[in-house]
Amino acid sequence: QATAPEIRPLIRAIHDYPKPGIVFRDITPLLSDDQGFQQTIDHLAERYAQQGITKIVGIEARGFIFATALAYAMGIGFVPLRKPGKLPSTTLQKRYQLEYGEDALEIHADALTQHDKVVIVDDLLATGGTVLAGVELVSDLAAQLHECAFIITLNELPGVERLRDAAIPYYTLCEF
Ligand code: 5GP
Repeated sequence: QATAPEIRPLIRAIHDYPKPGIVFRDITPLLSDDQGFQQTIDHLAERYAQQGITKIVGIEARGFIFATALAYAMGIGFVPLRKPGKLPSTTLQKRYQLEYGEDALEIHADALTQHDKVVIVDDLLATGGTVLAGVELVSDLAAQLHECAFIITLNELPGVERLRDAAIPYYTLCEF
């Protein structure tokens, strides 16, 4: 496995967004950098080549950007995990806790089967609530989870530890 591209300089810190005291990690400079974005996707495509992966599962909304590019690069299908009410057919839903309140993710009930082996992709791991809901949905459809992939993990927040405790493999290109 090649070393990950150096994307840290392309992640911008936005202070006090969306609330005072929060440092938001903004991926838009990475997206608009032709080399940075391409190297990120190529790196992930190389990591997951020849692993028997059948689908890339992406989390709305920023996860879609990386997940769809990765699925295209690998020549395999993409499956969206969406916020409630967006998917038109029969769905499974998983709620998860936010700092204040609750949110949920949905997947089409026929999007995956026991024959699928998937990578779940999101831009960033913070508390882990979002991706753990995604992991449960994949597991409810009896698909096999190969790994969760993030562009960024925030190591001071509990997500990293929650994934380790649950023995869920994950990969990240950049840690803060
Ligand atoms: P978690 O559920 O792990 O607490 O939060 C991760 C989700 O929130 C991801 O879907 C991610 O897009 C979003 N998120 C939370 N904080 C940030 C941030 O600082 N930067 C970006 N780009 N996304 C964030």
